[in-house]
Amino acid sequence: MPISEFTLIYRYFSALGRGEAVELSVGDDCAILRLAADERLATSVDTMVEGVHFPADSFPEDIGFKAVSAAVSDLAAMGARPIGMTLALTLPEADELWLHTFSQGVAAASTEYQLPLVGGDTTRGPLTITVQVLGALPLGEALLRSGACAGDSIYVSGTLGDAASALAMLAGDWQAAPEHAEYLLGRFNRPRARLDLGRKLLGRATAAIDISDGLLADAGHIAAASGVKLCLDPQRLPLSPALLSHPSVKKALDWALTGGDDYELCFCLPAAEVPPAGCTLIGEVEVGSGVHCGGEPVTVAGYQHF
Ligand code: ADP
Ligand code: MG
Repeated sequence: MPISEFTLIYRYFSALGRGEAVELSVGDDCAILRLAADERLATSVDTMVEGVHFPADSFPEDIGFKAVSAAVSDLAAMGARPIGMTLALTLPEADELWLHTFSQGVAAASTEYQLPLVGGDTTRGPLTITVQVLGALPLGEALLRSGACAGDSIYVSGTLGDAASALAMLAGDWQAAPEHAEYLLGRFNRPRARLDLGRKLLGRATAAIDISDGLLADAGHIAAASGVKLCLDPQRLPLSPALLSHPSVKKALDWALTGGDDYELCFCLPAAEVPPAGCTLIGEVEVGSGVHCGGEPVTVAGYQHF
């Protein structure tokens, strides 16, 4: 007999609801979360649709982990402290094995980001996962896209292009050696949102964004919001040894510049500031508009859903 909606919710999703800020979790009409008097709520929502945002044959555990990471990445980009999330699930059927493994991925992310699952919605339809994240920001503080100034240095965290190269591997376009393939697929299936870095940058970075649609496209959002020109040096982009194992450096660079799903942070610091560990200087902010890469104006867009 198929399980009921309520059994499903309680069996798989009600155990993850404890956290410092949680006054009331799964089970009532709303969850209730606590904010300090000098804090403000930061919230964002992300939807992943099977076949659009993840391949139909992905492991359910990875789907759960990645859906949470993609949403949490927006909290990281704002410098917010995570306080809770909600999960809207649209499922073609109540497949208990799928639900069990999916919920383990959500649980792993919930633990890693210390982000309790405090509510959600469950409906029938084509597989779609929507995660809303809730975070707290100190009053008057936030990492915005809009504060970059001419003279600032531009940095990125981690390495770029790994996830896009993994997607190409899944499409059968190339195959890395086993140890590199494992790393690249891990970057695609299990991205880590840079929450700790975002919180360190709060009060220091003049602008920040998470890279979900490719560096060039996302740098373009900082340029537009800040009214400045971002000049990037492609030679400086941090590329992993696994990505550089691809026979074409040009292709690797292309993935790093335009590939999606990196979930790293791109941010600007006043030139005198020392960057946090694990971040790479990739360019400089100048007076002007748009993104320039290797001296050329950039026109290509990142991944677009429409
Ligand atoms: P309502 O009809 O009031 O919207 P629901 O029947 O949709 O309530 O959900 C019952 C409770 O279970 C609510 O607290 C809701 O937040 C929670 N919930 C529903 N689906 C999920 C889910 N996928 N994950 C976590 N909590 C969920
Ligand atoms: Mg509901």
